This record gives sequence, C-alpha cells and structure tokens, in this order.
Amino acid sequence: MFADRVLSGMRPTGSLHLGHYHGVLKNWVKLQQQYECLFFVADWHALTTHYGTPEIIEQNAWDMVIDWLAAGVDPSQATLFIQSKVPAHAELYLLLSMMTPLGWLERVPTYKDQQERLSEKDLSTYGFLGYPLLQSADILIYRANRVPVGEDQAPHLEFTREIARRFNHIYGKEPGFEEKAELAIKKLGSRKSKLYTELRTLYQEQGDESALEKARSLLDEQQNLSLGDQERLFGYLEGGGKMILVEPETLLTEASRMPGLDGQKMSKSYHNTISLREDPDSIRKKIRTMPTDPARVRRSDPGDPAKCPVWQFHLVYSDDKTREWVQWGCTTAGIGCLECKSPVIDMVLVEQAPMVERVREYEEDPTLVRNIIADGCERANKLAEETMRDIREAMGLSYS
Ligand code: SF4
Repeated sequence: MFADRVLSGMRPTGSLHLGHYHGVLKNWVKLQQQYECLFFVADWHALTTHYGTPEIIEQNAWDMVIDWLAAGVDPSQATLFIQSKVPAHAELYLLLSMMTPLGWLERVPTYKDQQERLSEKDLSTYGFLGYPLLQSADILIYRANRVPVGEDQAPHLEFTREIARRFNHIYGKEPGFEEKAELAIKKLGSRKSKLYTELRTLYQEQGDESALEKARSLLDEQQNLSLGDQERLFGYLEGGGKMILVEPETLLTEASRMPGLDGQKMSKSYHNTISLREDPDSIRKKIRTMPTDPARVRRSDPGDPAKCPVWQFHLVYSDDKTREWVQWGCTTAGIGCLECKSPVIDMVLVEQAPMVERVREYEEDPTLVRNIIADGCERANKLAEETMRDIREAMGLSYS
C-alpha cells in the first residue's frame, strides 16, 4: 500500500503524439510503480473550451486511453477512469463553488491568456471561468497529495491548496474538536501518543518543519485509526480544525522536452507532430524533411546543432557517442543532414514498434479497453464517495 496518492489527467485530444509520450506518459509509467496513481480522461474539461463540438469527445477519449495503454500505463498498477463517469467530481465542484471567491478565479493567470489565445472561441462562459475549480475538485475528491504539474499549471495547484485551506477553515470546526483529538491521540497507543504529542509541541512551539513531517508520516502509517480520527490528528498538528481536504503538493518529475518537427513545441495545432501510431513510412518522410540549420545550404557548409531541431531529437533519443558524432560531423561538414537524421529515424521506429503492437491488440478487442475503464471508474467512484461523505457531513448535507 502506498502512502502517497498521485492524480493526473489529460483532455481527450484523440490519438497522442511523441510530445505526450516523452512529456507525460513516460512519467506516468514510472509514477505508477512508485505511487498509488489515478489517471483520468478529463472530458468535462474538454467541454470548457470545446462545448460547440462535443461529437469528437467520445472517440477521442477511447483513442487516447488506447495510447496510454500502448505507452505502458498499466491498469493493474494504476486506476484509469473517465471524469464524467464519476459524477461526484461535479458535486464537489458545485459545493466548492459556494465558497470560492470570484476574484480567486479571475486572477488565475491562464484565464486571460487562454481567452486571448483561443480568441476564435467565445470563452466568456461560466464553465471556462470555473475550470480551475473543476480541476481542484478533481484533485481534492481523491485526497491526492501529489500532483505532477508543468510550470504553467503551478498557479492552478496553488489555487487548489488555497481552496482546501479555506474549506478546512470554514467546515473543519466540529464541536468538541479538541476533546475528540485528544481521545484520538490515546488510540495511537502509549509510545506513539507520546511521540505524536512531542512532535506536535516541537512544531507548534518552535516551528520545526521536520517534526511536522515526522508526525505526518507517523499518522500515514496508522492502520487502526478511523479516517475521521486520522483527519482530526492531521488538523490538530497544525492547531487548526479537522482536515477534511488534503492540500496537494507539486510532484516534480523529470520530463524530456520533445520539440516538434519544426523545433517549436510539438502540438497538433502547429502541424509538427509524429503520432504514436504514425505509419513508419510517414515517420521516415517527416524526419527526412525536417528543417535543419539554415547555414547548411550545401553539404560542404558547416552548421551548428544548437540551431537545428534535429539536434533536439538527438538530445531525446541518442547516446553520448552519437551526439559527439553529430557535433563533430555538423560543425565540420563531415556528415550530411540526411546521414545525421538516420539514427533518429531508427530510434523513433524502435521506440514505436512495441506500442503499435499493443495498439493492435486493443483495437482488435475493444471490450478490453471498455472493461479496464469500467473497473477504473468503479474504483474511482468508491474513493470519491469516501471523501464526499465527509464533505456532505461537514456542509450539513448528510441527512443521516
Ligand atoms: S548535421 Fe544534423 S544537427 Fe547539423 S544541421 Fe544537419 S541535421 Fe542539423
């Protein structure tokens, strides 16, 4: 059993490209071995910007999940599900919206940026303004404490942390909290109770962050405490009330930056992608016709790899020896550009071959993917419901 839970999602953009593979999926494959992972298809998020073209969402979602599986995401290690199949995301989104100050949403930096970038769409909608809050609900509903985010998403995670704090502050004050927390400490057993109390005092009196961390791990390991008592003790550590929602932390991951064929970010809208299922002949053609350092007009003109998008591919795919060969051959005109591209083509094809094989298996038997998602949705619903019970209770909606 893992102590940390990771959540990550992707909008259903259809079949994926190498930028997704190197930027996200390779990380997911690693993360699933280290953490309890939940990976989801963010179909409601797709509607925040593509509400006018819903017909593409479903097929895109299935294609995307097949690519996840092809890339090595393993349903026996991670939970894969579709956001709209877990309606509690919408319930939490609604409940959080009651206490979210409008100004917090308006100042999320991507709000204005995206509206300007996607100016061909009318994004002056309530759903678009609220999408960071929907993201918060996605994370908080699973009490995911680790979220892999890129730089541009960091403000969204900070926003989620603020929402969790505000929620805990408003709704975490249960009557008799201190007495209940003291009772819960006793349930830890004498040795651990003493340790918890010492660590709490160290943190509260001296601000000792390492004591806080130790106390948190002590609580993480407790199997015998009820969830309610565990949350009380987490909240009591910092002097607050019951911690109903968990503040997620950024999970820093190593991601190779995979540029597009023209050196810009790889993106369908720039028409510079190689898809995970691209036909091998098309891969060869696309790489052979990639632009190179413009200084290399003739074969005898030396060039500079730093000015060439092919070099970026070598950084992702090649070993040191090949890179040295490129540096030498390019700067001395010892090799031609087609020669230089040849090992890249080989490596892309080698990487792609097992993925294509797996795609075929899933395409031949679509029920496999449907079953994987059905199982994942069932598990996600169960986990979401555990949190929703506490949230409804805290917000006076349990009607027991
Ligand atoms: S030799 Fe390689 S790195 Fe140099 S310009 Fe040609 S393709 Fe680019």
